[in-house]
Amino acid sequence: MLTTGGYVRISDIGELDDGRDGREGLLRQREDVFDLAKSKHCDVQRIYEDNDTSAYKRRVKRKGFEEMILDLRSGVISGILAHNIDRIARQPRDLERLIDIYEQARRPMVFATTAGEYDLTTEDGRFHARIYVTIANKFSADAARRVARQKLAEATEGKPHKGRRAFGWKDSEHVDEVEAALLNKARREVILGKKLSAVHEEWAELGVRSPQTPEGKTIGYSSVRYVLRNPRLCGYRAYIPQDVRERSGRVDPVEYLVERTDGTPVTGQWETIFAPGEWQELVDELDSRKNTGRGRKKGSTVTKRLMTGIARCAKCGTGLSSGMYARGTTSSEKYGHYYYCRKADGGCGSLSRSGPPVEEYVEAILLGNLRQRADNEAPAGKGDPELIKARETLRQIEADKIEARRLRADDELSLAEFAREIRRLEEKERGMKEKVATLTPTPARAGHAAARIVREWDTYTVDMKRKEITKSIEAVVISGAGKGGTQNGVFRPELIEIVWK
Ligand SMILES: [Zn+2]
Repeated sequence: MLTTGGYVRISDIGELDDGRDGREGLLRQREDVFDLAKSKHCDVQRIYEDNDTSAYKRRVKRKGFEEMILDLRSGVISGILAHNIDRIARQPRDLERLIDIYEQARRPMVFATTAGEYDLTTEDGRFHARIYVTIANKFSADAARRVARQKLAEATEGKPHKGRRAFGWKDSEHVDEVEAALLNKARREVILGKKLSAVHEEWAELGVRSPQTPEGKTIGYSSVRYVLRNPRLCGYRAYIPQDVRERSGRVDPVEYLVERTDGTPVTGQWETIFAPGEWQELVDELDSRKNTGRGRKKGSTVTKRLMTGIARCAKCGTGLSSGMYARGTTSSEKYGHYYYCRKADGGCGSLSRSGPPVEEYVEAILLGNLRQRADNEAPAGKGDPELIKARETLRQIEADKIEARRLRADDELSLAEFAREIRRLEEKERGMKEKVATLTPTPARAGHAAARIVREWDTYTVDMKRKEITKSIEAVVISGAGKGGTQNGVFRPELIEIVWK
């Protein structure tokens, strides 16, 4: 009596493929295996089972199948019984692995299904098995295409994704207020210059988890990036084809927005957390950091201090670098770090100044300036010709965008040309909007913004402060302490000159 293994499997794709799937199908497959064993006079040593895994998808590792291969090779079992050959192998290469074992085995082997027996030790048996698996493979590809078509259709209608909820929502439609608040806070702060790693630290400290976070852990850095760039936040619907997802694992949904025929994004039927403009602004900000190599890339081992690159050497004009005082020294205890003109950066190397006093001084001056701005309502400049011109340009850009969409709808522009044109117009629009914003005399709002910065200054990270400083200050020029050489512990503001923008 031959000792065999039974193989049973249900797949997710199979649901549309045949009616045998689900728990019930699994039981039926088991029954088939035992019936087969009786009729072939075999013994079933073990049932190898794979649940919800497809034999067709290449990236899926089937644990039961792999164990069965091992047992077959080592002689623990001398054959396989299954409901159908397509349960066992849908990829020709899986079958070839089995064939190798059968060909090399120097013992009686069996490979039987309810649909028939394949003698894999003979040319004829292998031929039939190969034909059958090739056909099953083709059917699976068709079924996958059918599923893909259906999913794309759902996406185009703006239907929410099925499956696991996204971070920010309780289910496929309703916002989770706590997570939404976290996302909005992070968005505002990142726009103000906060680093994503700082957001991540904060969330980890709060014990934030995403639906994908493994048990007992907190959200990872790349997940923070992912959930903040999720197009779903502003209602945009992304669709990533199954084969793309399988080939490359985690894919950037921002590159897979579903568009209407006029090139505008399809919006979904769920509650949103950001406005489309807010989402776009955040994505642009994060992308621009990646492109300029800020953040985690080059130079990330060097801590950027508040004044690094903003403070300059009065003698040679070079942007100052920062360093740490040697441990155990008085200066180290008192100040921690210092700024210096670095020869390696092309500087004269003759200037060094303790960090915190300079920083406190510049911060105090800037906050004083902002407070003044908050109090003084900026004078109006209604007839500003530059502003009028900028507004006119904005209107023209809007008209150009409508025209481009019309040309696209009439097929007079290719999709590529259209995308290029829209991108060009949007870039121009962004620049113009900034210009209008700076020119517009909105005293109430400007004052309001300045007051808010003053109020929240202490909660700002170094990066946020740097961004705010560079908005108003061109440079902080620091002169040497002069003949005496040392500062003697006395801070001398007359050696610091602030150059306003
Ligand atoms: Zn210098």
